[in-house]
Amino acid sequence: GAQPAPHTDVLIIGGGQAALSAAYFLHRFGLGDRYQMLDHAPGPGGAWQFRWPTLTLATANRVHDLPGWGLVEALGLDCDELPAATAVPDYFGRYEEKFGLTVHRPVHVRAVRREADGFRAELGDGSSVTSNLVVNATGTWDRPFIPHIPGAADFRGRQLHTHDYTSPGEFENQRVLVVGAGISAIQLLIEIARTAPGAETFWCSRREPVFNSEPFTPEQGREAVARVERRVRAGLPPTSVVSVTGLALTPAIAAAKRDGILEWRPMFTRITETGVCWDCDARAAEALGRPGAPEHLDVDVIFWNTGFRSAIDHLAPLRLRAPGGGITMTGRLATVVEADPRIQLLGYGPSASTIGANRAGREAARVAAELLGVSAR
Ligand code: FAD
Repeated sequence: GAQPAPHTDVLIIGGGQAALSAAYFLHRFGLGDRYQMLDHAPGPGGAWQFRWPTLTLATANRVHDLPGWGLVEALGLDCDELPAATAVPDYFGRYEEKFGLTVHRPVHVRAVRREADGFRAELGDGSSVTSNLVVNATGTWDRPFIPHIPGAADFRGRQLHTHDYTSPGEFENQRVLVVGAGISAIQLLIEIARTAPGAETFWCSRREPVFNSEPFTPEQGREAVARVERRVRAGLPPTSVVSVTGLALTPAIAAAKRDGILEWRPMFTRITETGVCWDCDARAAEALGRPGAPEHLDVDVIFWNTGFRSAIDHLAPLRLRAPGGGITMTGRLATVVEADPRIQLLGYGPSASTIGANRAGREAARVAAELLGVSAR
């Protein structure tokens, strides 16, 4: 869109599910001309536009519809086999158009600072936008997380993160170690093992995941989200709501288990020039069936599927961190920063799911309306 104006009442940072939901409800509450939305991605779709091509709507956990207009209706078709990386951006783009939601992109927000009676967001091109309120909805995609393991810099093979994955074809004839216990780790391990010609796969993580053969109940889902909510209300760093809901034992996973693809190893303790090493950790030794001796595994690729963190570095000048290492959140849905209630974080903690992002967006619009003295219905 056109350049953002120099001032707005509500600055929405991001243009994914959470941001669009907030904007939709701001329009509903009569505040359609009192916000600006800035997103540094090139097109609609939030982080979905960057997902790997083999991730389909069916293999994504479930992409929840945006408020007011569902994906099937918007695209005029119902096809679970569509790649999420094209279907979701297509859907979000049509959604923005239908409801007249303006997203300025690509506009990068470098830093947000307090000013006398509000905020100043410094943009990538050196200009800035001031606002009374900040609704941050920047997701996690831009903050891939790799744990620190000694020796990582010495490794001569390739290291990559989920964030950088494109296709199994990249791993032809390679020995690939997949690290992680979440849904991405499992899906990509199986994909590489099954479809990369000549590849040999290995898998390890800190804890062996538990696969639920019973479908996850809504009560368990709510409890998992509530646990993350309690953490952020206490100022602790959020854990992933997607990871705490556990993994379902799908037919693909059951088959992979049967075929020996999901042979789990504990986390290695060191990285070497040619692979990874388990030092004489009793648990590792036992799992490897060779008590005592350090064990080495030569690999060509270490593929980190070790998750993401909140992409909120641009908020650092606001000094929101609590002593517990997280940001203490408050409000009905824990979207409000306790230390400065003019700032809301969406897609952070309990709302880091597509359905959570929707709800948080509505709540953010309601809170913004209240602060601006407008009644929200
Ligand atoms: P995003 O979609 O990440 O949008 C954030 C936007 O902010 C992006 O467009 C980004 O460009 C922009 N941005 C970031 N920083 C800046 C900045 N400094 N300046 C300007 N713009 C910025 N959830 C589910 O419910 N179901 C699933 O199946 C599911 N699958 C997932 C699969 C993967 C691989 C991952 C990583 C996550 C998945 N999630 C899933 C969680 C998912 O990320 C959320 O559910 C939801 O899509 C996040 O929406 P969002 O609006 O918070 O963030």
